[in-house]
Amino acid sequence: MSLIVARDIYKDYQVGEVSLRALRALNFEIEPGSFLSFVGPSGSGKTTLLNLIGCLDIPTSGSLTIAGTDVLRLDRKGRAAFRGRHMGFIFQDFNLIPVLTVYENIEYPLLMVQNVPSGERSRRVMDLLESVGMMEQRDKYPDQISGGQKQRVAVARALVTEPELVLADEPTANLDSKTAYMIIELMKAMKEKSGTTFIFSTHDQKIVGAAEILYTLEDGTIVDRKEMEESDHV
Ligand code: ADP
Ligand code: MG
Repeated sequence: MSLIVARDIYKDYQVGEVSLRALRALNFEIEPGSFLSFVGPSGSGKTTLLNLIGCLDIPTSGSLTIAGTDVLRLDRKGRAAFRGRHMGFIFQDFNLIPVLTVYENIEYPLLMVQNVPSGERSRRVMDLLESVGMMEQRDKYPDQISGGQKQRVAVARALVTEPELVLADEPTANLDSKTAYMIIELMKAMKEKSGTTFIFSTHDQKIVGAAEILYTLEDGTIVDRKEMEESDHV
């Protein structure tokens, strides 16, 4: 069964009297375990689309099913609960909590959305610290680590609730290209390890080669879908 089924999705923004069409006629299916990128220039609709998939916003029309749930039937509270159960998020500007250590930032979602006993919590956090290569920095605060390290922490934080889906809107936009590539490779390694589906967006041609499935957006619609061959990977 597909993890995500989107049918004829439109999204209009109302700006005063004017209606602006940000997405039109989107149809796609995403299989579990995908490592998938939406690529396109600024303004092509990447953030709007990831917000819809992340149940942070709703389309103007169309249907959207995620993990067997018709998410457009959920109210605001239902969408928040659904996000907590099924999704992790990675942000362009990292969004770590400055007063919490690396360890505590990763642990935080477990304290918020799930009733996980403390032994299990620490096991998961320690495993992730190891997997993302941040064990030695676990007692540091966000302002004591680099941007690339912050995004490693954010990858771990997104995975700690063991979601089916991790969404990342331009996760490498604030990183230099070498670090950007390492973060995408880390995400891919975590996908292999956990089976979690990763969907990210980028306008950076240098990292799109790392995606296994690549959708190109232009003016709010999908103009190309490409399955990358192993040899396409940089
Ligand atoms: P991208 O992330 O690819 O840069 P966006 O999804 O942010 O694209 O934007 C798609 C289009 O929708 C753009 O024309 C943008 O100006 C418009 N848009 C995005 N968010 C809003 C909003 N909250 N209100 C009005 N227009 C918006
Ligand atoms: Mg954007």
